[in-house]
Amino acid sequence: MKLLCDEMLKGLCRWLRAAGYDAEQASEGENDRNLLAQARTSGRVLVTRDRKLQEHRGAAGTLCLLTCNGVDACALELTEKLGIDWLHRPFSRCLICNIPLQPLPRDAGDSVPADVCNQPLLCCPECKRIYWKGSHVRRMQEKLQGWATSGCKQEILPMDEKTVPGT
Ligand SMILES: [Zn+2]
Repeated sequence: MKLLCDEMLKGLCRWLRAAGYDAEQASEGENDRNLLAQARTSGRVLVTRDRKLQEHRGAAGTLCLLTCNGVDACALELTEKLGIDWLHRPFSRCLICNIPLQPLPRDAGDSVPADVCNQPLLCCPECKRIYWKGSHVRRMQEKLQGWATSGCKQEILPMDEKTVPGT
């Protein structure tokens, strides 16, 4: 599934890329009609919190309207509405360019910190950013994992009940 996030959902768009989804960010100030046309022609679901978009002709089947506030709530709403798997292909895309990362040749990096030299390194062919499993990536991965598991509420609830204090 490919997505197009409106300009109010920059944070969410970055998280979708972190999960490995092809998620484009709408240009600022783009009008509604153009946004919908861009989504349709590129085969993307337009993710927005703008209710007005729903009234446009051709919005059906192209639009995913979010009603939640905050990136955590929106993430879970996306899981419910589009079946987003937050562990789809974590850290396979550049968070900035939305381009698949490529393995970095061993001898390529003077710019790589010495303590990550033994790790597999990935590089964005566009912006040349280098990605590795440092603490920042690990923290992001934990968040993705949290969203992926809180999608299965029915499995989590019985366990919560068993830990009620005093029982
Ligand atoms: Zn990049």
